[in-house]
Amino acid sequence: MQKIDNYNFKGKKVIVRVDFNVPLNKETGEVSDDTRIRGALPTIKKIIEDGGAAILMSHMGRPKKNPDPNFSLKQIISAIEKNLGKTIKFAEDCQSADAQVKALAYGEVLLLENLRFYAEEEGKPRGIEKDNPNFEAAKKEIKQKQIEFAKKLASYADVYVNDAFGTAHRKHGSTAVIADFFDESHKMFGFLIDKELAAMDKVLGSSRNGFTAIMGGAKVSDKIMIIENLLNRVENLIIGGGMTYTFIKALGGKIGNSLCEEDKLDVAKEILDKAKAKGVNVYLPVDAVNADKFDANANTNISKTNETPDGWMGLDIADESIKKFEEIITNSKTVLWNGPMGVFEMDKFAKGTSAIAQAVAKATANGAFTLIGGGDSVAAINKNKLADKVSYVSTGGGAMLEYMEGKVLPGIAAIRGDK
Ligand code: AMP
Repeated sequence: MQKIDNYNFKGKKVIVRVDFNVPLNKETGEVSDDTRIRGALPTIKKIIEDGGAAILMSHMGRPKKNPDPNFSLKQIISAIEKNLGKTIKFAEDCQSADAQVKALAYGEVLLLENLRFYAEEEGKPRGIEKDNPNFEAAKKEIKQKQIEFAKKLASYADVYVNDAFGTAHRKHGSTAVIADFFDESHKMFGFLIDKELAAMDKVLGSSRNGFTAIMGGAKVSDKIMIIENLLNRVENLIIGGGMTYTFIKALGGKIGNSLCEEDKLDVAKEILDKAKAKGVNVYLPVDAVNADKFDANANTNISKTNETPDGWMGLDIADESIKKFEEIITNSKTVLWNGPMGVFEMDKFAKGTSAIAQAVAKATANGAFTLIGGGDSVAAINKNKLADKVSYVSTGGGAMLEYMEGKVLPGIAAIRGDK
């Protein structure tokens, strides 16, 4: 497989799938968080500094028509220019940029308009619902057109680089289909995807001994697959957040009004049985901070997790659980953390999640390899200003989860040939 580190882009036109799906400030229209733009800079800089020309393509938001000014990438040109320290060119239509590509000089950057102005990018028919009898035919047609769409994008360049990890789990025109139009030595991952894969592969390849996974967040149903895969790999599984209570109820505990997925009680029980059979230590919170309503100003009390008073709901882990979890985490050699321990968006219920963030940072300082992934645990690490105190913070929520579940990601397979 071709690697970006040892490729020389001199004299090459390079089409790069980046993830510029950035949030915009509703009032000013400016980019309110440019993390994703900054994430793509090393790849773009390498291409132009080598003496290549970079053609950038991305989606932003969920446009439903072409064009759709609210989702135009024109709005992010100045944020890219500011980060890159140079002006860039813009093509108003990603499917008819031939003249601009031709005129693009080496060392220059051209940004194509939002790929999702075309339904072909996602390969999903527009304006026709699944229950429509013509849906399947429309889907087949758009999938066919997706190949032409990707072929057009490919025609602009000598080399294809995919650096959009956040969409690597989607088989879209620009993330997977386009790769078929380049031979093995002319397609590669960018630096961001390379880093993501290295971090995840390191975790997945770690020895069971000293490997702790911390799973939190709202629902068991979102995390079943990843937990199942991790049971084959970890020594310790720490469970927190809302999903705690489905497990506690499955074990016969009293959970009051806490979040519970009644239809997942069997699954929770099965997970616990499997963990036992595989010798994985499962740690559920033993105590909790309860609230009388789901509100930042709710009244609170503390109870055993399996003795939640009637009318109350558990919204955070309490001190005894924190202490136990800290001990396990700080003594680990590998830590994977996905999902908050409580409703950390509300100050009253943020303590458990902050304590875990601190413990993960401490484990890192002790020499552990620590990977944080999934939107909310990343937000929690950032809120605690600890992003540079852990080994790696993944940028791809859904993509990261699917990879850790053991699934083949179409965007990765298209270049690396994963099966
Ligand atoms: P997820 O996206 O599945 O990782 O879930 C994250 C969400 O779970 C956050 O918005 C948290 O507020 C929420 N959450 C965490 N703990 C609890 C809890 N005990 N009860 C209800 N929601 C929770």
